[in-house]
Amino acid sequence: MGISRRNFLKGSGLAAGAVAVSGTKAQADVEGSGLRTKGVTTTTTICPYCAVGCGLIVQTKKGKIVNIEGDPDHPINEGSLCSKGSALFQVANNERRLTKVQYRAPGSDKWQEKSWDWAIDRIAKRIKESRDANFVKSETIDGKRYTVNRNEGMAFLGGAALDNEECYLWGKMARGLGVSYLEHQARI
Ligand code: SF4
Repeated sequence: MGISRRNFLKGSGLAAGAVAVSGTKAQADVEGSGLRTKGVTTTTTICPYCAVGCGLIVQTKKGKIVNIEGDPDHPINEGSLCSKGSALFQVANNERRLTKVQYRAPGSDKWQEKSWDWAIDRIAKRIKESRDANFVKSETIDGKRYTVNRNEGMAFLGGAALDNEECYLWGKMARGLGVSYLEHQARI
């Protein structure tokens, strides 16, 4: 049977109408279904685990993460995630997740809860002590003295969770302290 232009357009119109009606019904079904994605805020982000940098869609409701999945529009992973990335939801929603600073003093077998201010001051103090104790101002090579300003008592390790700006600051801070052992987790 031949298809005239008029019949083709008539058929297309009916098909489009059917899709529009079923789309409206599907939308109504979602609204009334109590799906966990109803009323959520959707944001995109990057998996923090490794240098592949897979794209994620994160859905939150009342400030709490309710779903994380691969972003099909992201050019790196096109929606797929490895087993670690697929389990990211459990990192945020986990009763075993530590949310406070835990400190174990040298030689102690007990953990103490500390404030974030205490931890930052303590880390800064230890960094300064270590830098001062291990700083090499100059060294002699082939009988000639060179200024090196090198900190040999410390190493800095960046990670794939850092974005461009954080990497910049991390590198600046490390070099400002004279650190020459500066590495990235994904290269190890
Ligand atoms: S989902 Fe897996 S492969 Fe992708 S960035 Fe995360 S850890 Fe790496």
